[in-house]
Amino acid sequence: SKKYIATPTKTNKILQKYDFAFKKSLGQNFLVDVNILDQIIYHAGINHTTGVIEIGPGIGALTEQLALQANQVVALEIDQRLIPILDDTLADYDNVRIVHEDVLKADLRKIIHHYFKEEQTIQIVANLPYYITTPILMKLLREDLPISKITVMIQKEVAERMAAKPHTKSYGSLTIAVQYYTEADIVMSVPKTVFMPQPNVESSVLQLTKREKPLVDVQNEAFFFEIVQASFAQRRKTLSNNLTTKFKGILTKERINHVLDMIKIDGSRRGETLTIEEFAILANAFYKEIF
Ligand code: SAM
Repeated sequence: SKKYIATPTKTNKILQKYDFAFKKSLGQNFLVDVNILDQIIYHAGINHTTGVIEIGPGIGALTEQLALQANQVVALEIDQRLIPILDDTLADYDNVRIVHEDVLKADLRKIIHHYFKEEQTIQIVANLPYYITTPILMKLLREDLPISKITVMIQKEVAERMAAKPHTKSYGSLTIAVQYYTEADIVMSVPKTVFMPQPNVESSVLQLTKREKPLVDVQNEAFFFEIVQASFAQRRKTLSNNLTTKFKGILTKERINHVLDMIKIDGSRRGETLTIEEFAILANAFYKEIF
């Protein structure tokens, strides 16, 4: 029977063969459980026509399973030491391309154009390096790439913030930044025991499904996100107080309360009670007031 990379025995063998030492600073925690990988791929809903971009293939545990089920896999790996290892471990799969690049610096639009067919559905599937989870996801969302879905293993706590609902502790500016562009769901909880070495934090698989267009219409995106930030600046303070701090020297407290009255949002509420739609109304009203 075929021995997959994602088993403790095979992984140890590969690590020994190449005398590979994990770099904590690169978030290297490799998956050693084929069952978990299969579940991730099942949730992603990949088939033989799907193009997949993987971020951080490691020694190829997830890459191998993706190669078996997807049309093509392009994997971006920053660690030079892993490139010859991947050439070896994935030698049997002719639908995998390894790109030696830092995902945060990579021109993803160019990579997509170069490796995938025009009109091909492209998804991101990855066990992300946790030290840069948020920068990676925000880059993928802001660049408005032709990617339909993102299915990623990340820290549980960050997954909860990204998928949060109003009136919860996890709900904040990160929630809104993510849900402005996508529908966010936690699809799996993953025990530490399936990683080598085991991480210090709990993990979840987060799925982001791209919206056709942003959830709300805002006059100015940068200003919308500024208002959101300001509303959560001091979580225990009221909306009215946070906005007063934000607009110090620009708008008086009276003026701010007048705007809130006009749009019928109670200034004594806290930021965490506002829906994204309400934040849009708020941002558009203050934008009109100032500009
Ligand atoms: N996919 C493999 C698995 O599941 O076993 C490895 C996942 S490990 C959590 C994260 C991987 O991302 C490592 O291989 C690491 O070297 C790589 N990595 C870290 N920073 C990166 C970056 N900026 N760009 C691309 N890859 C990166």
